[in-house]
Amino acid sequence: MPQIYLDNAATSRMKEEALDAMMPYFIEEYANPSSIHAMSRSPRAAVKKARAQIAECLNAEPSEIFFTSGGTESDNWALVSGAEMSEKRGKHIIITTIEHHAILETAKYLEKRGFEVTRVNVDSEGIVKLDELEKAIRPDTVLVSVMTANNEIGSIQPIAEIGRMLKGRGILFHTDAVQAFGHIPLDVKELGVDMLSASGHKFGGPKGVGFLYVRKGLRLPPFMHGGEQEEGRRAGTTNVPGIVGMGVAAEISCEDMEAKNDRMVKLRDHLIERVLGEIPYSRLNGHRTRRLPSNADFSFQFIEGESMLMSLGMKGVYVSTGSACASGSLDPSHVLLGIGLPHEIAHGSIRVSIPEDATMEQMDYAADALKTTVETMRSLSPLYDDFVKKQKVM
Ligand code: PLP
Repeated sequence: MPQIYLDNAATSRMKEEALDAMMPYFIEEYANPSSIHAMSRSPRAAVKKARAQIAECLNAEPSEIFFTSGGTESDNWALVSGAEMSEKRGKHIIITTIEHHAILETAKYLEKRGFEVTRVNVDSEGIVKLDELEKAIRPDTVLVSVMTANNEIGSIQPIAEIGRMLKGRGILFHTDAVQAFGHIPLDVKELGVDMLSASGHKFGGPKGVGFLYVRKGLRLPPFMHGGEQEEGRRAGTTNVPGIVGMGVAAEISCEDMEAKNDRMVKLRDHLIERVLGEIPYSRLNGHRTRRLPSNADFSFQFIEGESMLMSLGMKGVYVSTGSACASGSLDPSHVLLGIGLPHEIAHGSIRVSIPEDATMEQMDYAADALKTTVETMRSLSPLYDDFVKKQKVM
């Protein structure tokens, strides 16, 4: 049985070049880059190189990149420190309803600390409503955070337009680009963002390392307190191997992105066409074209996502659901509810996220597996049976 990994948005396989580049920094060049002796030179130079590799990918300057432990820390830092540094001017923050939990929960924490948070809606395709966002801006708004691309439905947000809307208004603008960095072209100057979060393991780097881009001139206070690493902005012994691996992964991911994405879009669209064309009562969630090249998120009526996931797993196809069952809640995904799906349809949803090395044959295998799984599950569903009988009568 083949093993087809279609859960790349959860985490990606490390690029071998990234792993190879990391190895010397565990065994031979293991010195602390903050030390003063000669052995610290090589790891220090390696961190410098990684900073430049990442900055290059974003059209940023190396001094604007601050290494963290991953997307969650970067998001927490941007929101908490961004809010704290501005609180004398106002205590109002704007986010969207479909942000990742790293933003949603941090916003809730800030509410407990006396901030007010407006959660702006998205349309039925998962794109933030710009008119609503503009109306939400108040004289005491100090921070806006809108994700670059959604982790479940892949919708790509109009970040540059929001950047232009906020320009010159003294409001900090953060974007969670964890699903976007290394996958779609990003230029911080065009986007007009003050802060941008990313995470190594989402683009072929190692887990447990990420970064926050902080625009030059913005004195974002530290979130982690301790040593003087990262110009005194992020304390903690530098994760040299992780940073080196992430730097190499970033460089490779950003090379020939257009050509790679053309190929990904072909794979994605083939899968989408087959699923929508061959499986009745199925729908694609998120925008048809303004979506990550690797993402296809489907809902199937009369089906329960978790059982589908298990059944696909038995056929060697590994995908995700958007529901929060793993966290002990039976509520469907806030993202699917956010685009207006009713509970029962949101429950029957799966996310397919395609790795770079996937093939057309794998897409066909996955489409066949989805088709037979849905057919089998519907054949056992009294709800579907009733529905079909009613259709015949009508
Ligand atoms: N933000 C988004 C959009 C994500 O998809 C994720 C991870 O799934 C995170 C933040 C958290 O990143 P990390 O796993 O590096 O903490």
